Amino acid sequence: MFTETITGKHGNTETGTATEPHAITLLRRAVKRRGCTVEATRTGGVIIEWDIWDGGITPKRCTITLEPTAPVGNITKTVRADLAAIDARSGSYLVMEAEPEFRINVGRIRAGLHGVPPAATKRLIDRGLVGVGAPYSATSNGFLVETRVPVRVPLAARLAMLAADHRTRASAPAGYVRPADIGMTGTVGLNKPGRRAGMVYDRSSAASCTCRRWTGTYDGADEARRAARRHRQDATAAFVRALP
Ligand SMILES: [Zn+2]
Repeated sequence: MFTETITGKHGNTETGTATEPHAITLLRRAVKRRGCTVEATRTGGVIIEWDIWDGGITPKRCTITLEPTAPVGNITKTVRADLAAIDARSGSYLVMEAEPEFRINVGRIRAGLHGVPPAATKRLIDRGLVGVGAPYSATSNGFLVETRVPVRVPLAARLAMLAADHRTRASAPAGYVRPADIGMTGTVGLNKPGRRAGMVYDRSSAASCTCRRWTGTYDGADEARRAARRHRQDATAAFVRALP
């Protein structure tokens, strides 16, 4: 469940709640719409933005934010690995009851070859990082009956993981540098007052992402921050398009 806040073109806001299917519908619609951006937040939420041109000189910005009603909290490396394993397989399950021979499996999540021990499983469910479905019967080795419940990683946890994978940073511009340091030659910048004599101002700002698939150099810190945000929005849009 999410808290949904809609900010209209006049700055008016409306708040309500949104179920996960409703949130997915909103996101799918947003990525199909031209000029509409989506951005996952590290708290497991998402920001949807678009502009409305209604005859003024500048467009009016509209926003929908979705924030999980239960905070996702900090996702450690171990939790991240468990969630990724569960998320990667559609048939992941939690063992509720088993015959004595397999009692050791009770309380464990099985996600392919990956297993989550009972204590960690309980924490994932209590924190809402893993959702459970309706129980069903299966056999663990062909004849010993086991009661299982399907498990899945909810949208909020997946958004939080996505945002954690794409933490961008932009460096401040270098400022006044010696021309030779940025590959310039000749007598540029000689007539500046004080200690800046012989120096030129370098506005370029570098930006990069923890996913290691994106870097860039931009004209100024603002430009770098905007480009970093575009990268996070592109990564979120790709995630939404890949949702089953
Ligand atoms: Zn990235």
